[in-house]
Amino acid sequence: MCGIVGYIGENSASPILLDGLKKLEYRGYDSAGIAVLDGGRTEIVKTKGRIADLEKKLSERAPLSGSVGIGHTRWATHGAPTDENAHPHKGGNGRITLVHNGIIENYLYLKNHLIRRGVEFVSDTDTEVVAQMLEYYYKGDVLETIQKVISKVEGSYALGIICADCPDRIFAVRKDSPLIIGIGEGENYIASDVPAILSRTRDIYRLKDQEIAVLTREGVAFYDQELEPI
Ligand code: GLU
Repeated sequence: MCGIVGYIGENSASPILLDGLKKLEYRGYDSAGIAVLDGGRTEIVKTKGRIADLEKKLSERAPLSGSVGIGHTRWATHGAPTDENAHPHKGGNGRITLVHNGIIENYLYLKNHLIRRGVEFVSDTDTEVVAQMLEYYYKGDVLETIQKVISKVEGSYALGIICADCPDRIFAVRKDSPLIIGIGEGENYIASDVPAILSRTRDIYRLKDQEIAVLTREGVAFYDQELEPI
């Protein structure tokens, strides 16, 4: 078990994500990474090893200045703990990026299905299948794409998803893996567990199985599996 944190607000996302990941270190992990959306660009920095290694990698490059992002600590289940297998993972066109806790049980079937259709994979993870599927089925509506993909996926997942086409949103959905939503003032959060965001908000909602949350700076909207607003 490992950790997810996500932030959308007015502040720089990167330090908030790193701080949240540090608070989740107690869950154990072998790799760490973050993705930050800056306008229409998604920058991913990830590494095997400790969060200190991730901080070092971040300090050696231009700062990530966006105010929307997702972060992850990985406990490898499919694929060795390597830089390539660390999260976040993105689809082939680089538009959709996600972090995942859990196990996609039918990933091999889904992966082969995509490979036959020309999708190229860069990691050994079960997680990348979800990123590639989202990208493959995406026709301009992220919410509809998430609904379609989770109807095909078997297993457990907590997912934090960002899309370069909608730089002011974070999407979250879970099944049999924990995920909470934190409500702030002009900023909102996702996390695997309360300690990740406790220093920033005490207003917390536990996402239910297969509920989809859409976070903006101003608020959070919830949808059921039929995409009816809750
Ligand atoms: N199954 C995924 C992987 O091996 C996610 C593991 C996790 O929950 O950290 O990359």
